[in-house]
Amino acid sequence: VTAHIIDGRAVASTIHDEVAASVAQLRQSGMPGPGLDVILCGDDPASATYVRGKGRIAERVGVRFTLHTPPADSTTGDIVELLRRLNADDRVDAILVQLPLPAQIDQDAVIEAVDPAKDADGFHPLNLGRLAAGREVVAAPCTPAGCLELLKRHGVAVRGSRAVVVGRSTIVGRPLAILLTNHDATVTLCHSRTAALARVCAEADILVAAVGRPGMIDASYVREGACVIDVGTTPRDGRVVGDVDRPAVEARAGWLTPVPGGVGPMTIAMLMRNTVALARARR
Ligand code: NDP
Repeated sequence: VTAHIIDGRAVASTIHDEVAASVAQLRQSGMPGPGLDVILCGDDPASATYVRGKGRIAERVGVRFTLHTPPADSTTGDIVELLRRLNADDRVDAILVQLPLPAQIDQDAVIEAVDPAKDADGFHPLNLGRLAAGREVVAAPCTPAGCLELLKRHGVAVRGSRAVVVGRSTIVGRPLAILLTNHDATVTLCHSRTAALARVCAEADILVAAVGRPGMIDASYVREGACVIDVGTTPRDGRVVGDVDRPAVEARAGWLTPVPGGVGPMTIAMLMRNTVALARARR
């Protein structure tokens, strides 16, 4: 087989149009347009690039985008104080704290200070807990939600499938394993201590790599015809590379997401969708 390459940019663009239509509808009914506030603290160049991308798409879909850039030497208290202000501000529908934060800041405390009703990333423990309990959430974590959306829009059967997720971070692997479970997949969540990883992965109908080790997933990890979602992004020689050894896996998988142009654009599309969903839920 030669894998069908999933075009994340095209799907993301369709979702941008859907979000723009939904923003227009909100405005028509007399409500103010949805507002997303982003906190970017520190001088991580990759974070700055991501935030610029988010701002660009927000403008395209009609989401009011406000950027806050507290100084790199801010304390946990400073960021929590800023969040209190944004939580109390009625014009703010959704809040995103760009991670990672500078080392002196307590990331967990900051995530917990976001009003759960304005939690654009779905990282607040209350929202993650709801998701884990199998309940509906207004805004699920963006990258996992983007992966699921790619599967849905390509007709990849999730219900009854065997899914294997490699990587158990709070922002990608764990919530994705929960989302897939909630959509009736049978899920195995793998990590650096998983024994016989390639053998476990090779049982998957849906294999997700969210590790950050370029080329780690070779053909021996992939069942013939499987759907392979490559979340990994590692900067290398001025480019971004994924976790999947594309030439080898392309010859074996049924579907494959490229890097770049696969999951990445979906993350921003889901952020916009979450912002509008939170705005609707609040009004
Ligand atoms: P983390 O570093 O937080 O987590 C990596 C996970 O991979 C950990 O659970 C770790 O296991 C596991 N792991 C590490 N080495 C191995 C190994 N040899 N075998 C099996 N598992 C291993 O990363 P993130 O979840 O934040 O991100 C993962 C990747 O996805 C990165 O490349 C990141 O850049 C990318 N990413 C892309 C996004 C997008 O929009 N496209 C968004 C977010 C992330 P353990 O828990 O045991 O340490």
